[in-house]
Order: sequence, then C-alpha cells, then structure tokens
Amino acid sequence: MTHVPRTLGLPGLSALVVGLARSGAAACSLLRRHGFAVRAVDLKEEAGLAALADRMRREGVELQLGTEDAGAVSGMDFVVLSPGVPDSSPVVREALRAGLPVLGEVELACRFCPGPYLGVTGTNGKTTTATWLAHLLRGAGRETRLAGNVGLPFSEVADHVTTDTLTVLEISSFQMEHIDTFRPVCAAALNVTPDHLDRYPSMKEYAAAKARIFENQGEGDLAVLNEADPGSMAMERWVHAPLAFFNPRLVVGHGAGVQDGVIHLYRHGHATPVLPAGDIALRGPHNLENALAALAMTLPWQLDPARLAQGLREFPAIPHRLEPCGEVNGVLFVNDSKATNLDSMEKALLSFDRPIHLIAGGRDKGADWGSVAGLVKARVRTLLLIGEAAPAIEMACPGVPAARCASLEEAVSSGLGKAAPGDVVLLSPGCASYDMFRDYEERGDRFRAAAQALGKG
Ligand code: ADP
Repeated sequence: MTHVPRTLGLPGLSALVVGLARSGAAACSLLRRHGFAVRAVDLKEEAGLAALADRMRREGVELQLGTEDAGAVSGMDFVVLSPGVPDSSPVVREALRAGLPVLGEVELACRFCPGPYLGVTGTNGKTTTATWLAHLLRGAGRETRLAGNVGLPFSEVADHVTTDTLTVLEISSFQMEHIDTFRPVCAAALNVTPDHLDRYPSMKEYAAAKARIFENQGEGDLAVLNEADPGSMAMERWVHAPLAFFNPRLVVGHGAGVQDGVIHLYRHGHATPVLPAGDIALRGPHNLENALAALAMTLPWQLDPARLAQGLREFPAIPHRLEPCGEVNGVLFVNDSKATNLDSMEKALLSFDRPIHLIAGGRDKGADWGSVAGLVKARVRTLLLIGEAAPAIEMACPGVPAARCASLEEAVSSGLGKAAPGDVVLLSPGCASYDMFRDYEERGDRFRAAAQALGKG
C-alpha cells in the first residue's frame, strides 16, 4: 500500500525545493520522510555538491542541477525556498507568476514541529543569544534543542522533537521572507542596525522583514524587545502578543534589566535578583544585552533563578565571536571574524579597555565607514587592512596609522610586531569574507591558526 502523507495544511503532495545548501537539503529529507514527492534545483553542478547529490537521489529526490530553469516548477504543488535564494531567481519568479505557494524552509519545518519553538532575530547577537538561551533552558532542566541558522536546520529537528521539547531557533531576516503560519511561542528582536543593504532596498524593508517574527503571535505568546535599541523598539507596532523588554541600564516592568549592577528578572513588576552583571560569562556591553535577552525569554517557564544565574555565569565562548585565541608575549589575540558589519565591529571595539590593533576589511556591503571613524581613532593603535575594503577604511580613518596587508597571516604577524604587552590584536573585520575566504569561519580559523603558530614560533 502506498504511504499517503499527512499534508499538515501544505498545499499538495509534491514540492519543488530551490537551493540545496544545508537547509534546502534538510527540507528535501523532511518532505521525503513524510512521503512527499520532491524535486530539487540548484545552480551548482553535480561536482560542486559531491556526496550530497548521491544522498538526495538515494532518498528519492529528483535533482535538476546546474540550472535554475523556470520549467522546474511544472507539475509541482508548492515551492520551498532555501534562505539563500532571492525572489529574483527565475524559478521563484515563475512559481509566483503561476500562483504556486512559496514557503520558506522554517515555514515548512514548523508545520511538522509538535512542540513549542522560540525565535531569536536581530541584526547582531542572534547566535550568541539563541545558544545562551538554549543553555539556560537546558541548565534549568528543560528538554531543549537548538536549531535554525545555528547548528542544525529546523527541518532536520522539527519532526524529531516531542511536545515537551523547547526548540530554540536562530532566525535571519531571509528566513522570514516566506512565512505564513510560523508562530514562535516566544520571540525576540534584539536590534536592527544597517546590514544586508545589498539585498534589501532600504532599512525599512530590512526592519519589516525582521518584524515578521511577531506576525502570527497572539495571546499566550511572548514578544521580547530591546529598550536600548530604537530599531527593536520600533517593532512594537507590529506586535500582537504580550510584551517583555530587556534593558542593560534601566529597570523594566516585565522582562530583564540591571539595577545597582545586579541583573534582575521582572515578572509584571515583581523583581528577582539573578546575579551581578559583572559576573556573566562573556565580555562586552553587547553580551550583557544578549544575556538579558536570553533571560527575558525564559519568563514563560518560571525557572529557578539560581540555575539561571549559573547558566549566565558559565557559558563557553562561541567560536568567531570575540573568541580568545591565546596570548603571545603578553599580546592577546581575539577572533571576531563573525563581525561582518559595522555595528558588531563597534561592539568589539567597546569590549576592550586595552590598546587595540584591529584587523579589518574584506568585502564591503555598502557600509558607511565614516560612522565608526571616531571610535576607531579613540581605540585603535594600528589598523591592519585586508581585502577589497582596505582603501575605503583607510580613507575614512585619517590619522590612524594603517598598514595594508596582502594576507590575513601577514596582518596577524604585523599586529604582533606593532603590539606591546597588554595590547590586543583583534580580528573584527566589519566586512563579509568572500573576497578572500570561503566564509567567515574559514577566515576565523585561519586567524586562530596564525596566532597559535606565532605562539609556537
Ligand atoms: P548573529 O548570529 O546575529 O550574526 P552573533 O552572536 O553570531 O550574531 O555575533 C555576530 C557578531 O556580532 C560578533 O562579532 C559578535 O561579537 C557581535 N555581537 C554579538 N552580539 C551583539 C549585539 N547584541 N549587538 C551587536 N553586536 C553583537
């Protein structure tokens, strides 16, 4: 007997998945596990996908590779998009023209998820906050999964969790472009600062895409906003759910804040002290915000404050986010390769009270370098510039000693040469990595390896 899939409100039994990166492949497998007919297209050729193409075929996915031919939609009931695929792709355009429903990968996955899920979005701090939140929930005894942009795609875990599992999702704005019923039981928008202006026409569209995390929430859910970030607060008009706030300075009515140097959890005005703000595991004012966001997001579960304090105190550094990579001759090396925009670079510069030798540059995403020039001048002893953006950064920061470096390794050793004991050599590039590296992870790994090699040399 043929297995007839449960449609879960999906508009048919055959799906076209566009884009076979990690989430797209996970979406194919999820659909196949539940008996849907699946076709997948990807611009990459067979050779570029290697073992993945074989696995997909074994799972019964029909592949059309090396093309995004609009004809791929024919005979399909609906389309699932990988977050990397823009609406301008010919297949997506054809699907929209033909009136086929187009679902983002998280929209697909949430249909299969029997338990509650929580969503974290924002320009910066998503991975840190989502990971920290999962750590807090787990530490307080709740069964928790971490998925989305960080770790596993939601499609890989959605149908494996139970009704008791709390699934914490890191959600980018791209992932919310095609949602329909996606409804996190608790959702936070950490901040909205300029980024991805190469993909969105303006900040307004970018912020609107992020605000969609609140779109389907209602009574019984919780929306969390950052009182210290105007972009986050501006989303209030899109929120239908009860609100909680976090604030690294002032006290808040419902949420998390800091009072006399102590982090508090506030439940409708009733304050519970949790731990001194100076005791949290990660450095920098932005990580205090991330900690408070994670804490505020635990409100619906009424967890033990002592366990929450422990989870905030003990949390390992996440690779590529202000990750300490050792000291050489008293000079600290820090890998912040994930700082791919100016706001995150700014936060890194504010996280050290010692002189900084900053490795910056890479592929420019249309950033306004003049906006960080003052801070760079105040905090940076030497600029070590790499990649395509080097001339623009140098021009925007007159008066700061700058050296152009042909490679990251040259920048690392030149940083050591210029630094005195007690200084920090910080990779916080403020740019994408694609002009010189596969991704920010390769860039960060190469930095760490170069720093460690200097330590041995
Ligand atoms: P995302 O997942 O949103 O990219 P990450 O937690 O991976 O966020 O951090 C990305 C970069 O932004 C890192 O350089 C990190 O140090 C910095 N960062 C982390 N949290 C914040 C924040 N709340 N505000 C600004 N920058 C941040």
